[in-house]
Amino acid sequence: MVGFIDEKLVNNILEENQNPKKEDCLEIIKKAEESKGLTLEETAKLLQTNDQKVIQVMFKTAKKVKERIYGTRLVLFAPVYLSNYCSNNCLYCAFRKDNRELKRKTLTMNELKKEIEFLIQQGQKRVLLVAGEDLRHTNIDYLEEAIKTVYSTKVGNGEIRRLNINVAPLSLDNFIRLKNAKIGTYQLFQETYHYETYKKMHPQGPKADYKKRLYAMDLAQKAGIDDVGIGVLFGLYDYKFEVLCLLLHAQHLEEEFGTGPHTISVPRIEPALNAPVSTNPPYPVSDQEFKKLVAIIRLAVPYTGMILSTRENAQLRDQLFSLGISQISAGSRTNPGGYSESEKEKFDEAQFKVHDNRSLSKVIKDISNMGFLPSFCTACYRSGRTGDYFMQFAKSGNIQNFCHPNAILTFKEYLLDYADEEMKKFGEKVIQREIQNITNPKIKELTIKKLKLLEDGQRDLYF
Ligand code: SAM
Ligand code: SF4
Repeated sequence: MVGFIDEKLVNNILEENQNPKKEDCLEIIKKAEESKGLTLEETAKLLQTNDQKVIQVMFKTAKKVKERIYGTRLVLFAPVYLSNYCSNNCLYCAFRKDNRELKRKTLTMNELKKEIEFLIQQGQKRVLLVAGEDLRHTNIDYLEEAIKTVYSTKVGNGEIRRLNINVAPLSLDNFIRLKNAKIGTYQLFQETYHYETYKKMHPQGPKADYKKRLYAMDLAQKAGIDDVGIGVLFGLYDYKFEVLCLLLHAQHLEEEFGTGPHTISVPRIEPALNAPVSTNPPYPVSDQEFKKLVAIIRLAVPYTGMILSTRENAQLRDQLFSLGISQISAGSRTNPGGYSESEKEKFDEAQFKVHDNRSLSKVIKDISNMGFLPSFCTACYRSGRTGDYFMQFAKSGNIQNFCHPNAILTFKEYLLDYADEEMKKFGEKVIQREIQNITNPKIKELTIKKLKLLEDGQRDLYF
């Protein structure tokens, strides 16, 4: 047992719930439809069913739960890679220290500004800053300066309104500095909760310390960062074990700080330059298993956002949106300077291969055609609706009353400021469709008023 991860307990739960009965699984799914979550035992049963009928019911129910809580919204963001220097040697990542073929680069503040200007001109309002772990290149002073640069960059009506960050664990004092710099979510993936596998995958460098990583979210919470995002890199170890551990992590945070993680990310290993494990992962997760685990996480922790990156191809991503994903990256580059430097991703500087290469506008069109509403909303974080307060707000059904109209308003801003004529016409139809989905007449009326104000030139209007 390391910290709150009790491997024995997880293995026992998996063993005791092997070969679950069809009726038991259907009963569990029925209960999950009420958005009350799942116990570890119930989750273990669903993870271990191979009954196709049960899996189909599970998918339908995950879709229902997702629609009830999140409506049709899909929140969009873009990652920004600050640096690919790294003092660790993770066997699956191209940024690993031993990869001598990778061209190394750390963005200067001017280069970062250019990246942000590019993204603002695409219409993005949220970014996720990402960096390798190397104190010579991306220490806390650098990160603070980078955050300031992002928030202060403006182009026309555009700006970045929420900045999330995925960097190595920090000290309490440095987490406090991140909090004061006004980050949104602090994101960090355990990669694998399986201790032995963790040790093998992270042979060297500060990341070799499993426990330090496991408790990074506790430190972030102590520093006042109450939106934290956890995740697993699927492919390193048995996905069933990992999903149960994600739930244990969520339970631990809830017990300690009164609220679980704001988001769970579900990256799957992709091929990366000179990263031996990336091309031959020890526990590959098939597309069908991946869809199943996304649906099960949605049922297990219905109010926790779930993030999907462009690691997955467009077709699979489209299916995963319905099963529970609430936030997606679009038009991404995974190399420092990737947006402003070239049109095509440079694989020799990139962290891993991106499989969804659609532009932001193409993703917007595709998801709208599927019945989703693209959202650039950042209102909760800026209105102080974070951590436990956000969870209470979400559980009382308010995502629909606030987030849905806010998504409409931010999509309208996108259309007014960044869309071509064809997209404008198309987007207006989406907006009309989505206004009809607002059930509260007062909110509907106010939304229509605010849409008019946006047309008259006002910006950044939200509930
Ligand atoms: N260096 C920090 C760390 O490792 O936590 C933060 C940034 S790291 C670039 C962000 C995440 O990328 C890692 O947590 C890992 O899950 C993911 N990653 C690394 N190699 C990958 C690969 N080959 N395919 C998919 N995701 C990968
Ligand atoms: Fe460095 Fe993070 Fe890549 Fe590991 S995953 S090599 S820590 S950038």
